[in-house]
Amino acid sequence: MHLHVGFDDTDSADGGCTTYIAARLVERLLEVGAVFIDYPNIIRLNPNIPYKTRGNAAVALRLDISDNSYDSIKHIVLDEIEREGRIGDENADPAAVFLKGDPSGPVRELARRALCEVVPVTHAMKTLINLRIEAASYGTSIGLVGALAAVGHTLDHDHTFELVAYRRHENCGSQRRVDRGSVEKMNAKTLPMTFNNYDEENRRVLITPHGPDPVLLGIRGETPEIVRKAFQMVTIREPVERWVVFRTNHGTEAHLEAAKGYRVRANVPVVVSGKVDGPPKRVMGGHVFFPIRTKQGRFTCAAYEPTGRLRDVIMQLIPSDQVTVYGGTPSRHGLTINLEKLEVLDLAKWMILSNPKCPRCNKRLKSAGRQKGYKCEKCALVVRKQRKHRLIMARKLIPGIYLPDLRAHRHLTKPQCRYGHERVWDRKPPLEKWHSP
Ligand SMILES: [Zn+2]
Repeated sequence: MHLHVGFDDTDSADGGCTTYIAARLVERLLEVGAVFIDYPNIIRLNPNIPYKTRGNAAVALRLDISDNSYDSIKHIVLDEIEREGRIGDENADPAAVFLKGDPSGPVRELARRALCEVVPVTHAMKTLINLRIEAASYGTSIGLVGALAAVGHTLDHDHTFELVAYRRHENCGSQRRVDRGSVEKMNAKTLPMTFNNYDEENRRVLITPHGPDPVLLGIRGETPEIVRKAFQMVTIREPVERWVVFRTNHGTEAHLEAAKGYRVRANVPVVVSGKVDGPPKRVMGGHVFFPIRTKQGRFTCAAYEPTGRLRDVIMQLIPSDQVTVYGGTPSRHGLTINLEKLEVLDLAKWMILSNPKCPRCNKRLKSAGRQKGYKCEKCALVVRKQRKHRLIMARKLIPGIYLPDLRAHRHLTKPQCRYGHERVWDRKPPLEKWHSP
């Protein structure tokens, strides 16, 4: 029978890592004869949830097992969560669900909602009870939402792959010893089949995290083959404990897809169109803001300093430009939309009004006061019946899609190179060489 195991919220700020538990489970479950019918899935959920740890990732393992091995598999999963999950740490409330058969409509619907809403844990619990899905949770049970959502999000449409390699326990907490030059070379050789692994603009390695967690590096790409090949091209100067290829919704903007048509409110992804309603402003720290007028009201859009060149695009906007803004509202304090992407749809005419010139000396006239016409400062001529000149300025901005710099990308942000390369899952994976021997 098919068994879908989902788990979530095993990390806390002190380290620990949901995907690491998955990687250990891969080995233990293979040992007892479980067959993986899919790569382990990493599912990123609504990135605007206030209580998330890092990226709000949940994991699903999809297995084909013999009926009589169910109990022992459940035992292994819970044993691993209890061993590696940060039970008792603040904000770590691990949970696991065990769904026999394949995910049905209500589970898929909960998964869709978890991408773009704050799903209450009571809703997840009701779904589990109604569908008689076995589950376990520790602490506040909040992990049940992500665990069930991971199981329900089967990545049938667009998806990508990530090879995650892990470090030895004794090295956790120290700097990751990954050669920068080799990452740069790997990136140059594998683009656009890999993405968001190296930021050429800022010469920054993006594959290594910085926390105390056991992740050594994660390489993102379009296929299992390319991430494996890219991994071999990277020079690593510390032992690799194990590695696994995951199938993910990274780089698919699944959260924005799910949020289309939703109202703008707190803690959700946002997709909304409207007109620029005032001049953009750059403030101290380099952050850029502009107002947008939409059918749902007027909102402030923000592009923070790390979004880089996106801010320069925004500074070229003028009132009445038509745009669609994509982002999130992580704060409860006012509905500021933090931009993840900007689509410029239509440009307004940029008109500059200027005073007419003096017919005698060609100098630009000054206003003589309200309703009093114009006066020349040089020859004192007063001109009453002249109108202001209208000057139509050329716009440098081109309609299109604009993204932040790579370092400001979220896990779910779809990078430019992925547009037009969205793929459908064919469900018949030749699962080969997808984990360390
Ligand atoms: Zn004059």
